[in-house]
Amino acid sequence: MPELPEVETIRRGLSKNIVGKTIAAFASDTPKMLNHPQAFYRRALAGKKILRVGRRAKMLIFELSQENNLLFHLKMTGQLVYQGRNKCIIGGHPIKEGFQCAQNRFTHGEFVFSDKTHLFFNDVRKFGWIRLYSHRQLSDYLDSLGLGPEPLEKEFSLGWLKRALARRPKAKLKPWLMDPKNVVGIGNIYSDEICFYAKVRPDRRLRDLTEKEIAAIYRGTKIILKEAIKYEGTSISDYVNAAGEAGAYTKKLKVYQRYGKNCFKCRGQVAKIRLGGRTGSFCPHCQK
Ligand SMILES: [Zn+2]
Repeated sequence: MPELPEVETIRRGLSKNIVGKTIAAFASDTPKMLNHPQAFYRRALAGKKILRVGRRAKMLIFELSQENNLLFHLKMTGQLVYQGRNKCIIGGHPIKEGFQCAQNRFTHGEFVFSDKTHLFFNDVRKFGWIRLYSHRQLSDYLDSLGLGPEPLEKEFSLGWLKRALARRPKAKLKPWLMDPKNVVGIGNIYSDEICFYAKVRPDRRLRDLTEKEIAAIYRGTKIILKEAIKYEGTSISDYVNAAGEAGAYTKKLKVYQRYGKNCFKCRGQVAKIRLGGRTGSFCPHCQK
């Protein structure tokens, strides 16, 4: 599943290309992907202009004219493909057939813009979804999720982090970082990298973290996520950036999926650890 840097990369790619466009038509063959019948979508979307492409956690938000919003979640296998006149922007999960800048058998949502360009929502496993909300419905829905702060916003401060960690003394660091009710957008990849940056084992109990370690976790979260956005995310097996290329942050990874290999810092062996149903990687020599 893409994490914050990958979804942010898709947001930036789409934002440059679809803001200002007017939706002329919409079609979908998958009712469960939508929160209203298709006819409702068609009526509501026709003639609406895309004002802004935003993001909350791992969801993309298209703000439309007349207080409408489209919320997208790519989930495990979703992909957004913008088919322009002379260019193609692909963001999300590649499909086995390779990158196609056209409708294909995994296309379950299609937006046609008034300038005849297209946006396709492709999804092999159909867990992804689109929701159409008014401003009010959108804010109610987002509130109902009980999400933690965006890690790159001011609300995720060192003071906030100290207080939040103190509320869950028995929790372990990596699963805590990966829970969107604590802080959003951090999954298996970036939680491993943040723990390595902070020199803290992923299974450390929160109550045992020192002030210095908490400060390092705070710094690492900001630095690593910003750096990953700069490199347009990480591509391991199932994610590409908004141009359909593998995210370049893959080359920057220090521990994620490197178990059994030598640590770049100490040359010792990177270990793996099972935590909360996920496999993490860490260096037992560099991380205490
Ligand atoms: Zn090491």
